[in-house]
Amino acid sequence: MSGDPENPEHPERAAVAAFADDFVADLREWLSIPSIGTDPAHHEDVARSARWLADALRRDGWPDVQVWSGSGALPAVYACLPAADPDAPVVLVYGHHDVQPVDPVEQWHYPPFEGTLVGEELFGRGASDDKGQVAMHLLGVKAHLAALRADHPSVTIKLFVEGEEESGSPNLTRLLDDHVDDLACDLVVFTDTPLYARDAPTICTGQRGLYGAEVVFTGGTADVHSGRAGGSVPNPATAIARLVAALHDDQGRVRLPGFYADVIEPTAAERADYATLPFDQDVWLANSGGAQAEAGEEGWSTLERVWVRPTAEVNGILGGYAGPGLKTIVPSRAAVKLSFRLVPDQRPERIADALREFVDAHTPPGLSAEIIPRGDGTPPYAMPVDHPAVRAVKEALEAAFEQPVRFSRTGGSGPAALLRQRIGVPVVYLGATLPDDRIHAPNERVVVPLLLRGAEAAARLWRLLPERLS
Ligand SMILES: [Zn+2]
Repeated sequence: MSGDPENPEHPERAAVAAFADDFVADLREWLSIPSIGTDPAHHEDVARSARWLADALRRDGWPDVQVWSGSGALPAVYACLPAADPDAPVVLVYGHHDVQPVDPVEQWHYPPFEGTLVGEELFGRGASDDKGQVAMHLLGVKAHLAALRADHPSVTIKLFVEGEEESGSPNLTRLLDDHVDDLACDLVVFTDTPLYARDAPTICTGQRGLYGAEVVFTGGTADVHSGRAGGSVPNPATAIARLVAALHDDQGRVRLPGFYADVIEPTAAERADYATLPFDQDVWLANSGGAQAEAGEEGWSTLERVWVRPTAEVNGILGGYAGPGLKTIVPSRAAVKLSFRLVPDQRPERIADALREFVDAHTPPGLSAEIIPRGDGTPPYAMPVDHPAVRAVKEALEAAFEQPVRFSRTGGSGPAALLRQRIGVPVVYLGATLPDDRIHAPNERVVVPLLLRGAEAAARLWRLLPERLS
């Protein structure tokens, strides 16, 4: 970190530096609780993790701290630290404290639930996703108060840290609706997204949505001998192959009817930023399962293809005989598992309708088609880059990182759109982790100096917001 930490021009930085050792020690303690939400054997640990966070908040002086559980939901933590000015803006920081399983555990170089500091990197499950980033916000609030030399922040800060994000947030809608008054705010700060790269900090402005479904074609009631009946009856596997082949045109565009009708293209400013981010196609391919060549929709760069363009992917094809050797049959049934990544303003329910129409048009006579959706889907979300709150986050990040911060998005999906819809306010992203933190994989880590800068940015943001949101 350049600049004098005692420099009075950077009180937030000085405060973050003063708290840094305690921050790492506390985070290591939290990481030692194996809060694996997807594994019922660890649900008591998820509860313990929630209690740990609640205790940490009370130690930091947050006056209103609650653990929300019940109705089979894993516990979420809510806290509120009011501004001195009752008319100050209210912000809600969203994160999660549940973590992914650690298998295969033998591939970890350090114990997954100890929090091992190696140089600047802290290794452990949840270090990056998402305990590190939640802890970053606790530090940001402390630094904000210390910089102000005050007991109350410039904005009322609420914290909502759920325990089921890694399970797909099955109770989030109910939690948001049950606690609508507690969660009321003017802005949500979503803290579960990475910077683009260590030397290229970015502000994420959106996440893609998701819709998934399995399409099943069924012919007769049983497989039939291909010599006796082959050539005389429809083959479900051939029909699935034709449907899959029809999914994209030669330019890589998805051929579901009306698929692009609601797509909002990124602004020129966003595309210009994406084009100047450091990008190495070979590294990208190596990190993308060792792919041999790029593919995708014509007219868009690789980053644009994963950030701002919708997709259709075949996740699996099932049908017929797949054992050793040959079995000469016409199968009775075949299926394909499809997923669609969506961008604003596509809606999962409209994609479901379009898929139904597409499947109907590609179901040959003599076969019946069934579509089995995987849940309701996740809507996409993006913020306009000229929104005052986005500009404030960008300014705070630029001050903390001491360099220009460009726009980015992420190709994955999360509950930002749901938060926007249920709480009814804009959602901005403030994260300080990296895409190569190996989240969900062995050897998850977080780069501690980036979390400290993220905390500084958050502390600066709380100071900026009253003026920017007025
Ligand atoms: Zn996460």
